[in-house]
Amino acid sequence: MANIDSTQTNLLQRLLARQVEANRAELENSYRRVLQETLFTNRSDVRPSMLPGIGIQEIDTLIDFLLLHLPSGVGHGIHLCQTGLGEQAVLSLGQVTRQFFLTHLENEQIAPALNVIDAYQNQILQGFIQCRERTILNEQERIRGALERIISRVTVEIKEVQALAQKATEANEFKSRFIARISHELRTPLGSLMGMAEMLQEDVYGPLTPGQKDITQRILTNSQALVHIFDELLDQSQIESGQLRLRDEIFSPAELVRQVHSNCLALALQKTLPLHLKIDQNLPRSAIGDRRRIDQILTNLVVNGIKYTETGSVSIQARKIGSQRWMLQVTDTGIGISKENQAYIFEPFRQADETISRKYGGVGLGLAIVKQLVTAMDGTVNCESEIGRGSTFTVILPLRTAEQ
Ligand code: ADP
Repeated sequence: MANIDSTQTNLLQRLLARQVEANRAELENSYRRVLQETLFTNRSDVRPSMLPGIGIQEIDTLIDFLLLHLPSGVGHGIHLCQTGLGEQAVLSLGQVTRQFFLTHLENEQIAPALNVIDAYQNQILQGFIQCRERTILNEQERIRGALERIISRVTVEIKEVQALAQKATEANEFKSRFIARISHELRTPLGSLMGMAEMLQEDVYGPLTPGQKDITQRILTNSQALVHIFDELLDQSQIESGQLRLRDEIFSPAELVRQVHSNCLALALQKTLPLHLKIDQNLPRSAIGDRRRIDQILTNLVVNGIKYTETGSVSIQARKIGSQRWMLQVTDTGIGISKENQAYIFEPFRQADETISRKYGGVGLGLAIVKQLVTAMDGTVNCESEIGRGSTFTVILPLRTAEQ
């Protein structure tokens, strides 16, 4: 532009504007076509219905620039960016304008015309980039603000949760200590009461009438039930406070199962229930584990089987599974447990339902202790049951033998 004076420039720009006016429809179509092409390949917020409007504006702004000599390119670039056009679309619009003049001008007009058009395009790009940068900065600012707000909220929440967790842990520890102490305190006098009842039973203080014998027997039976509850409470608080230590000792699995069976026979007999026993030959003669705790697991299941069965039978089964595991299974033909209740009977202090617990007694700890002991041994316990038909509890434990 430096080598042509302003009158010539005016003339040239008027000529260009005339060309645009004269071929408006053609130019509009070309704009629309390239916009359509870039619309789906280039990330943009422009909807197809906006395309004709953009084409018309493109032409009007170009004419304004040519006739009024306004530096409208920068503003127009900002406007295109705000409309949501991507950079590919903006560059394509520029190419269409250039191509338009290349086809509609005489050869000698082309070079000066392109000077004017390129100056205009540069302004547009400048405006577009300015706006893009500002948009990106604003977006970064917005994201930073939002992140800061989220972080400060989450920090407050984490602190609150930590404080609550701390309180819960303290309360839980206190509860465990309290239960352990109370159980211990109650167990001691209960032990001496039982001792005295036993002495009475054995006529140490002289012979008792049948009625007195019956009463002392009932004192003993109820005291044993209490001792059982205190033992369960102690076990539970010990497990909860992480004080459970499993021992490694060599024992005979078959003998252990036989022992539990014979210990529970009297209980089954009281209800005239047969207590079947099936020990598979494939059980190894010796294994390593916490004999007392495995006994406790099986006893709990067998006692429950007898407790919740009125007619039919209770069966104990033990066998080896593969080379690494063994199974203890207790099946009864008792009252059964609904699917819904099966979901929580292994939780501490949970019982299937209140009417059942009132009728059969217990505090709902037996199965929780079974589950926690089995888990500590890396085993599993599960229950299959149907109301009115009975239940099967299956414990699977890892098998460690002396040879291993
Ligand atoms: P509880 O001291 O109440 O027997 P458990 O933890 O041993 O506590 O059992 C939890 C609940 O699961 C029991 O209250 C009972 O409702 C149900 N349950 C356990 N074993 C059986 C079974 N063999 N048959 C039917 N219900 C059972």
